[in-house]
Amino acid sequence: MASALRLSGKVAVVTGGANGIGEASVRRLVADGARVVIVDLDIDSAEALSKELGQQTRSIQVDVGDFVQVEQVVTYTIETFERIDILFNNAGLGVSGTTPEISPDDWQRVMDISLNSVFYSCRVAIPHMAAGGGGCVINTSSISGVRGDYALAAYNAAKAGLINYTRALALDHAQDSIRVNAICPGYIETQMSVPFSQHPAIRDAFQYAIPMGRAGNPEEISGVVSFLASDDASYITGQAIAVDGGLSAGSGIPNIPRIAREARSSAN
Ligand code: NAD
Repeated sequence: MASALRLSGKVAVVTGGANGIGEASVRRLVADGARVVIVDLDIDSAEALSKELGQQTRSIQVDVGDFVQVEQVVTYTIETFERIDILFNNAGLGVSGTTPEISPDDWQRVMDISLNSVFYSCRVAIPHMAAGGGGCVINTSSISGVRGDYALAAYNAAKAGLINYTRALALDHAQDSIRVNAICPGYIETQMSVPFSQHPAIRDAFQYAIPMGRAGNPEEISGVVSFLASDDASYITGQAIAVDGGLSAGSGIPNIPRIAREARSSAN
């Protein structure tokens, strides 16, 4: 007899679900048996994905930086699928710039999309999850939430806040049987990383810095999302899990053996 899919009967909400990491996660959650509400500003891509995946999905156009719209997502999900088990807060925004270069409006927008949005969705969804017997929240932070970057101050602040908010949520709702974890991707090939991947010197610098020597792909994040959402992760809560090819494992000291090797071979 075939075994049940590991997320059979579960209902998930995925923000930023129309493209990139979110899209891969929608596909994976559906393949693992969940019904999924795809939440995105890009409604054309969200609708196309929902149409492709069929009755197990719905799509809804929402700006996650707006509390009232996020509240509507939760209402819509409960009306449509009668419960929420998995909340994947994945939509995020970064703007480049040092502190004097970032306008207050841009700073606020980054906070709204990358941090406040998670407060909004959790505030509304957690009571439903608790009433339904529990659930799981997964937040997409970044390795940029673990350490600082050059000229990414607002993003660094929002993604770091998201990691500690994840811990606070985990503590507050462990007794509601709600697990809360963050994923910290490294350099993943999506629309968001196009400015890096299209610039040969930046792409090469990443490949040099990443111990595994390559960018990740969205499916390498979605597998972790599915794992964290499943009972296989039943004792994991309050964690920030780096999925980065080893990028955040280093201290910042360059790869001296490699530099020495390359110097020797160019001298020969
Ligand atoms: P992406 O651009 O491929 O997808 C992001 C999706 O979010 C898009 O569909 C976009 O329309 C949607 N979105 C953006 N703002 C929104 C809003 N206000 N309301 C609703 N939807 C909105 O990017 P991605 O790389 O898949 O990024 C997903 C998450 O991963 C983000 O939180 C990002 O910060 C994080 N992340 C990405 C990388 C990377 O290298 N790609 C690394 C670390 C963290």
